[in-house]
Amino acid sequence: MKTLRLLLGDQLNSQHTWFKEVNNQVVYALFEMRQETDYAKHHIQKVVGFFAAMRAFKEQLVQAGHQVVYYTISDQRNLQNLPANLLQCIKEFGIERFEYQLPDEYRLDEQLKAFTHSISIPFAVVDSEHFLSSRIEVKQLFEGKKQVLMETFYRQMRKRYQVLMDGDAPVGGKWNYDAENRNKWKGTPAAPTITVSKTDVSKLVEEIQQAGVTCIGEIRTDAFHWPITREQALQQVEVFVTKSLPFFGQFQDAMSSKEPFLFHSLLSFALNTKLISPLEVVQRAVEEWKAKPSTITLPQIEGFVRQIIGWREYMRGIYWWKMPEFAQLNYFNHQTKLPHYFWDANTKMNCVKEAVSASLQQAYAHHIQRLMVTGNFALLAGIHPDEVDAWYLGVYMDAIEWVEVTNTRGMSQYADGGIVGSKPYISSANYIDKMSDYCGGCTYDKKTKVGAKACPFNSLYWHFFERNRTLLQGNQRLGMMYNVWNKMPADERAAIVQQAEHYLARLEEL
Ligand code: FAD
Ligand code: SF4
Repeated sequence: MKTLRLLLGDQLNSQHTWFKEVNNQVVYALFEMRQETDYAKHHIQKVVGFFAAMRAFKEQLVQAGHQVVYYTISDQRNLQNLPANLLQCIKEFGIERFEYQLPDEYRLDEQLKAFTHSISIPFAVVDSEHFLSSRIEVKQLFEGKKQVLMETFYRQMRKRYQVLMDGDAPVGGKWNYDAENRNKWKGTPAAPTITVSKTDVSKLVEEIQQAGVTCIGEIRTDAFHWPITREQALQQVEVFVTKSLPFFGQFQDAMSSKEPFLFHSLLSFALNTKLISPLEVVQRAVEEWKAKPSTITLPQIEGFVRQIIGWREYMRGIYWWKMPEFAQLNYFNHQTKLPHYFWDANTKMNCVKEAVSASLQQAYAHHIQRLMVTGNFALLAGIHPDEVDAWYLGVYMDAIEWVEVTNTRGMSQYADGGIVGSKPYISSANYIDKMSDYCGGCTYDKKTKVGAKACPFNSLYWHFFERNRTLLQGNQRLGMMYNVWNKMPADERAAIVQQAEHYLARLEEL
């Protein structure tokens, strides 16, 4: 039966059962579409990364003998919309059956469900064979329970896949070494170069521009460093496990104006497009740890494993449990627009300037820059979560809604009222200074709360507690902070609130 099999841009899993044998009755379809380039204002590196990886994947399929229909963004046949392109192919190739892999985004899931209901030929949906847990697993584990904890899910995953386990007990006796992973980076050890790819993407960039796609951010066209093939991605895994893993956990939360990547893996794009699988990454890292236990200590490997088989899988489970409502949540009823410096990095706040510049230059910022600088500031400043989501969804190389919205609206903005995190992730300058070198080069004074040079984070931090008293005072994890605030002299509190309101009224000028 002549079959059309759809491959979305984030379904580049060459190890999928579909490709085990060549069948001349099967046509694979990949489309570069305005539908995908225009639903958010994306970073140019992100659009290039997806299209370059899709093109390389198509070549690989063709070389293996598969039949492929591929529409480039400028292809005359391209109707720039998924159902229309699919219908066109069904007619052109005399297709009698349609198959697709479970999409990871709600909007595509809905679109494909509607499409399959509109056609008269039989269809089938298959798993993408990438994740370690099913879409509904987090829901099944926690529905109706009082506590929804990543840690519970993480332990289940460790046991199931026997990762860092000694029978039923965690290797070393502890499940989690997070408390040991909070070091500032002071220049040593030197951060390694872990980007391995250097693809010339100049022609592709020209094509994207000529097609009229508008993007944000910068790109180096002669040496694009994100992996676009499975081979490049596996090479990056090798460089990461041998060079960065020994320091990964230790400096996981550190931030530096000199080294944007530090000891992070830069694997999120390759993982999210499914060029590589989470299990193979984790297994390779564990293998390296076993071979070099004196170089890679348990807290380093555990920290890395937790991100991939814990947080990444957990966020996906939360997404499929809570969508579509999740993407609308606004617990604090924040309404403010994102200030201009999220788009141009032109701000006196050095930490925000560093994190936004890195994002615009690299389409990347690591977790703590996203959470404790830009996310922290957006939350303290009361930015509407829709605005925050749109920015994160556009600017990062790895931003796909299932993992972006759960991290942004959930973990970082607490707009879900505590589904992902048990308290809002906020801080004053104190934390940012402890973990980075940003405050030294700042116009603002990290130590003061009030006055012309006072760091905005300091007064906004307390203002956040004050203005959200009704919503947060009952949260046990915040009790200590409310005690500190309540015990401050009334005139000091009033001055801090006034300072914060002064800043909030002049957000664009900070
Ligand atoms: P590493 O620090 O080397 O970590 C290894 C891997 O663990 C990552 O590649 C990633 O796959 C996984 N991981 C780590 N933390 C998380 C997490 N919280 N959730 C899911 N996976 C995690 N990640 C995305 O992939 N796409 C996004 O759009 C995205 N948006 C984010 C928005 C905000 C506000 C925050 C706070 C975090 C976001 N994250 C997102 C999670 C995390 O910041 C990135 O996965 C990570 O920075 C990617 O860089 P890396 O590959 O060098 O990660
Ligand atoms: Fe950021 Fe305040 Fe430090 Fe400046 S002083 S870098 S604004 S935390």
